[in-house]
Amino acid sequence: LYVEHPLGPGQSVPLTREQAHYLFGVMRLSVGRQVALFNGQDGEWLSDVAEASKRGGLLSCAEQTKPLQLPPDLWLLFAPIKKARTDFIVEKAAEMGAARIMPVQTGFTNSERIRQDRLQAHAVEAAEQCGGTFVPEVTELQRLDRVLDAWPEDRQLMFCDEAEVGSALRLAENEPGQPWAILIGPEGGFSDHERKRLKALPYAHVVSLGPRILRADTAAVAAMTMWQQALGD
Ligand code: SAM
Repeated sequence: LYVEHPLGPGQSVPLTREQAHYLFGVMRLSVGRQVALFNGQDGEWLSDVAEASKRGGLLSCAEQTKPLQLPPDLWLLFAPIKKARTDFIVEKAAEMGAARIMPVQTGFTNSERIRQDRLQAHAVEAAEQCGGTFVPEVTELQRLDRVLDAWPEDRQLMFCDEAEVGSALRLAENEPGQPWAILIGPEGGFSDHERKRLKALPYAHVVSLGPRILRADTAAVAAMTMWQQALGD
C-alpha cells in the first residue's frame, strides 16, 4: 500500500478513509494483520494493523522488508494522446522503471490538457502493482521547445523517429550510468522543424524502433525495452 507518510521503526501511520475502506472493507483485514507499505522514499515496511474502523485506522511499522530501490536515471518524454492510451503510457513507464515521466506538447500534439493528478495516481498504482519502492514523478504538460531550451547537457536523448529507418541505438561511446531520456512523438509524428532541431542537438541519438510505424503507446514500451536492454538494470 502506498502512503504519504514517513516510514521507520515503530512509526505509526494513520490511514485515510479510502485506504481504510480498501484494507478493511475490500481486503477484509483486521487488527493484528500485516500490511506492506511504501512511500517512495523509505523502502518497503511491514506494518501491523493497530486500529481499524470504517473511517480510518492506524498501522504500526514493524520491520523494513526492502530498501529503497531507485530506478536508472531515465526520463520518458511523450506527447499525450487519447486519454486511455496516455494512461497506458504512464502505467507502463512506471512499471518499466522510468524515474520521471514528462508529457510534452509538440507541434502536432493532439491533446492540449492533461490531468497530472490522475496520471500521478496511475504511476502510484503501477508502482504498487509491481512491488516497487519508488514512484516516478509525472510532471505537468510542458512545451517540448521549452524543455529543450532548459535541457541538462549531460543527459543523452534517445529521439525515436520512424523516418530514421535502420538506426539502432549506438551505445559504444556512451558510458553506463549516464542520465538518459527517451522522446516519443504524437500520432502525427514530429514536424520538419522539430525534427531538424532535435537532430542537431549534440546529446540526441536518433533511433529507429523497426521498419513499421508503431502507435505512440507501443513505441513508448518498445523504446524503454530497447533502452533497458542496452543500458538499464
Ligand atoms: N508520423 C507518423 C504518421 O503520422 O504516419 C506516425 C507517428 S507514430 C504513430 C508516433 C511516435 O512513435 C513517433 O513520433 C515516434 O516517436 C514513435 N515511433 C513509431 N514508430 C517508430 C519507429 N518505427 N521508429 C522510431 N520511432 C517510432
